[in-house]
Amino acid sequence: MSEAELVLRSTRVITPEGTRAASVVVSGERITAVLPYDAPVPAGARLEDVGDHVVLPGLVDTHVHVNDPGRTEWEGFWTATRAAAAGGITTLVDMPLNSLPPTTTVDHLHTKQKVAADKAHIDVGFWGGALPDNVGDLRPLHEAGVFGFKAFLSPSGVDEFPHLDQEQLARSLAEIAGFGGLLIVHAEDPHHLAAAPQQGGPKYAHFLASRPRDAEDTAIAALIAQAKRLDARVHILHLSSSDALPLIAEARADGVRVTVETCPHYLTLTAEEVPDGASEFKCCPPIREAANQDLLWQALADGTIDCVVTDHSPSTADLKTDDFATAWGGISGLQLSLSAVWTEARKRGHGLEDVVRWMSSNTARLVGLDTRKGAIAEGHDADFAVLAPDETFTVDPAALQHRNRVTAYAGKTLYGVVKSTWLRGRRIVADGAFTEPKGQLLSRT
Ligand SMILES: [Zn+2]
Repeated sequence: MSEAELVLRSTRVITPEGTRAASVVVSGERITAVLPYDAPVPAGARLEDVGDHVVLPGLVDTHVHVNDPGRTEWEGFWTATRAAAAGGITTLVDMPLNSLPPTTTVDHLHTKQKVAADKAHIDVGFWGGALPDNVGDLRPLHEAGVFGFKAFLSPSGVDEFPHLDQEQLARSLAEIAGFGGLLIVHAEDPHHLAAAPQQGGPKYAHFLASRPRDAEDTAIAALIAQAKRLDARVHILHLSSSDALPLIAEARADGVRVTVETCPHYLTLTAEEVPDGASEFKCCPPIREAANQDLLWQALADGTIDCVVTDHSPSTADLKTDDFATAWGGISGLQLSLSAVWTEARKRGHGLEDVVRWMSSNTARLVGLDTRKGAIAEGHDADFAVLAPDETFTVDPAALQHRNRVTAYAGKTLYGVVKSTWLRGRRIVADGAFTEPKGQLLSRT
């Protein structure tokens, strides 16, 4: 074992065994011990005492659209990973679409990795994409280290990433199951969407009616049926419809290998409060009613929903028009996700341990990084967020590191100020000052 270089000490360290006063010993990039608070500092080690600020494992955000290269004016690796670091996130997994090229062949993956390599302020992994015509690319992508494959069951919003019909889904899923991979799915049924009223315009109620819950519920039911038939592992992306929860719980009880995520915007914003024309609130599936939100929280509490991820999917401001039908769909929340979720979680009686489970441990497990990410434990990477959970701030878009400072959270007062973020033993941001990018590119192991 190399010599201890750093001891990070706090009265509140969130470990897998609970929150306690502890001294976290770091050698090189790893945690080598979690000792009692007053354990002597090893000779030669530097002590960083953060008092009663909470030390939590750096968050692992497995749903981020970085858009680099190709749509870097929407977001890029430099800006996205700085925003993530500022928000306490130390690992992100990039979605295969909205960049050009999309991550649908090994060549494209290499192109993206090259672009990300010297811009990443945090560790970055990649999802691959499953398209109607790339079944032959899936295994090579898996072997090249993508963490799984994303598919859409309805139009994705960009022409170069077409969706799968049920037959194509079955073919891709059988291929992926054949090598033990994971399929992650945007589950809205195209026929239900087509049958819904499409009024367009600035009224949020009209937009909400155009993306009904039964579009999600139907797509999820079909996906579960396919996963069961093929004994495949699937993950439901950005669940919004609480009506699908009983179906998911039943499938799991039945042994189907299905996991589920939801997003900060579904948990903290409601349809009732979206102003007409405010397309910074537009995403698909949509933000639904407060009563729906209560059930999502209940599902997080009982474990039906595993993870909370941002689905950070920005665009330039000009695409966020006041017509909900044509405005770009995607919410920008990378830098604010921890504080937004924590603000609502504490109100509902949850602890930071719960937030860590949803946003760090369970997301790390989803992508198989749980032996090195998502926990403050011996042998794990020394990735930390130091948080003042009782301090508040008001969201000022000008203070965001996102490429485009458009946010649905503008003006909200949130609990939880990230004081510093640490990546593999180095402090990468403290009080708004960043170091040079030292993020690593991650591959499935
Ligand atoms: Zn997404």
